[in-house]
Amino acid sequence: MVSVLVDNIGELVTNDAQHGDGAPLGLLRDAALMVEGDRVAWVGERRFAPAADTHVDVAGAAVIPGFVDSHAHLVFAGDRAQEFAARMEGRAYSAGGIQTTVAATRASSDEMLAGNVARLVAEMQRQGTTTVEIKSGYGLTVSDEARSLAVAAQFTDETTYLGAHMVAPEYADDPAAYIDLVTGPMLDAVRPYARWIDVFCERGAFDADQARAILAAGAAAGLHARIHANQLGHGPGIGVACEIGAASADHCTFTTPDDLDNLAQSGVVATLLPGVEFSTRSPYPDARAMIAAGVTVALATDCNPGSCYTSSMPLCVALAVREMRMAPAEALWSATAGGAKALRREDIGRLEVGLRADFSVLAAPSYVHLAYRPGVPLIHAVYRGGQHIA
Ligand SMILES: [Zn+2]
Repeated sequence: MVSVLVDNIGELVTNDAQHGDGAPLGLLRDAALMVEGDRVAWVGERRFAPAADTHVDVAGAAVIPGFVDSHAHLVFAGDRAQEFAARMEGRAYSAGGIQTTVAATRASSDEMLAGNVARLVAEMQRQGTTTVEIKSGYGLTVSDEARSLAVAAQFTDETTYLGAHMVAPEYADDPAAYIDLVTGPMLDAVRPYARWIDVFCERGAFDADQARAILAAGAAAGLHARIHANQLGHGPGIGVACEIGAASADHCTFTTPDDLDNLAQSGVVATLLPGVEFSTRSPYPDARAMIAAGVTVALATDCNPGSCYTSSMPLCVALAVREMRMAPAEALWSATAGGAKALRREDIGRLEVGLRADFSVLAAPSYVHLAYRPGVPLIHAVYRGGQHIA
């Protein structure tokens, strides 16, 4: 197997607390990283680096683990730019909303949907994302949800069935019948392509009992649970997530101290999506209170055409630091190792021997620049499984 030594790294973020001063980022200075095949083979100070077949000299730049974007809705057609403009200008916009995207998605060919996902995944990779979770949820019929997940599975192993994004328009008068569809024929149809099941547990969408029923049906079919919770108000989503042992409760914008204790004790990751608050001009979640309560926090984009159409993890890191008062080190950890925890992945999110060689070389001497220089394209080169992908 060919070995490649990534050498002359000014600052290496490993997320392995055995390195550096014992802090979670596991920072090494004047470091090197050896890759063999798709795995990390060695990490340490460069003066101790082993011999390798080839070298890549990064000239003192910082190297960070690849971002793990654990929450994205990429299978859709069309966009909602006019709705966004109206929201920003404080104008009413009656034609907007998720139904617009559902209609456009249903009317698209598989090739058009796959082309849109390919475009967005490439955009993410150029910004340092090496793992992305992709949800369905704009089909809301058996065949449209199944093909949405078949498309998603072409791009990632982290596929999530979100038939319970909203009650499909055809079932507006009979939500119970829609839940029967979501937990019955639709679940059967998506099962070959889905690893996760998700539900939008919110007033106006699905309540706690409905969410329990949907996630239980998914679990019986072998899918693991994650939840859209407490985005629009105080609600039961976090409680349901903790009760059933979901991997992650996502959004967590409105929380009580009990919610935070519950998350900390159950080990459910709180995935914060600050691009949504930015793009909807809404109050941000209280990341400081979560960290103080001992909650594991992840950061993700929630890339979707309605509430947040960014694909940029560097933007989310900058927002987490500026708007949620996370330390730059906390934000980077949450965007990498935290995302891996939200997806229950042990092979990514850290740069340790034996794990997948997913990392980015920054056009900067320190990871701090991700928040310090917001909006600047600082991702210089991206490697996934040891391969240069962007
Ligand atoms: Zn979402």
